[in-house]
Amino acid sequence: MTARTIDGKAIAAEIRAEVKRDVAALAEQGITPGLATVLVGDDPASHVYVRTKRKACGEAGIRSWDHDLEASVPEQELLELIERLNSDDEVHGILVQLPLPEHVREQTVLDAVRPHKDADGFHPYNFGRLLAGSPLVASATPAGIQELLIRSGVEIAGKDVVIVGRSNIVGKPLAALLMQKGAGANATVTVCHTGTEDLAGHTRRADILIAAIGRAKAITAPMVKEGSVVIDVGMNRTEDGLVGDADYDAVKEVASAITPVPGGVGPMTIAMLLANVVKLARSTI
Ligand code: NAP
Repeated sequence: MTARTIDGKAIAAEIRAEVKRDVAALAEQGITPGLATVLVGDDPASHVYVRTKRKACGEAGIRSWDHDLEASVPEQELLELIERLNSDDEVHGILVQLPLPEHVREQTVLDAVRPHKDADGFHPYNFGRLLAGSPLVASATPAGIQELLIRSGVEIAGKDVVIVGRSNIVGKPLAALLMQKGAGANATVTVCHTGTEDLAGHTRRADILIAAIGRAKAITAPMVKEGSVVIDVGMNRTEDGLVGDADYDAVKEVASAITPVPGGVGPMTIAMLLANVVKLARSTI
């Protein structure tokens, strides 16, 4: 069996077109959704991500404000900027690009963003609401993965979903999303990590296997159940270029569907971020 490729780029383009229509509808009510992005330091990957997000805002008709700060910025200065953005009525969403420099307490900064302006859904309030099943906004990458599965016709309800990775930005919120009782969820979710014994034993049971590990080609073909769906979140820069967490060429001979890297989950993250900004803008009406 050769897996069909789940085209994240095409599905993301669909969502971005919907976002653009929503932005135009809001404009008729006198509202232009706006996103403030905060970038600290000179991490090259972060610069690429933030540039892509800003460009995507422009294409959707979302206003964006760029705040690029030196790596040495004192934490207090960063918190004061967030406070100003919290009070600015034109700013509907605030995104602080992670990682932050070591001298800045990441959680303190994320906690400072007003929950109703939390474009990434990283604030504990939004994290809690997500777990409770009534998210204001869900983190963009997990929400993008759920949407990718739904729009590519993959049944989630009743399936065994195995997520490898338990980070606060991917694994944990994704587990919370997919375990909910409701449409596009209702799965039986297992979360694996470095403390998991017999990782392959778990992954081989998965109807839907989601790899969010950050290790190139860590998911090999023998770890994958015949006919399963594999979602590869990983973005690993190697000598061969950008590669995922799954050994794509081998795994696609076992799975029934798989996301490529690049062109799978990545574009969905951007699309869902834009959708979150529109949601936050709409919630101010
Ligand atoms: P992270 O914070 O480093 O978390 C990695 C997780 O994988 C941890 O829970 C870790 O377990 C687990 N893990 C690592 N090695 C493992 C192993 N050998 N066996 C089992 N579990 C293992 O990473 P992240 O931020 O979630 O990102 C994961 C990957 O997704 C990265 O490649 C990142 O670049 C990518 N990503 C992509 C997008 C996108 O839009 N496409 C968005 C976010 C992240 P422990 O908790 O036990 O350490």
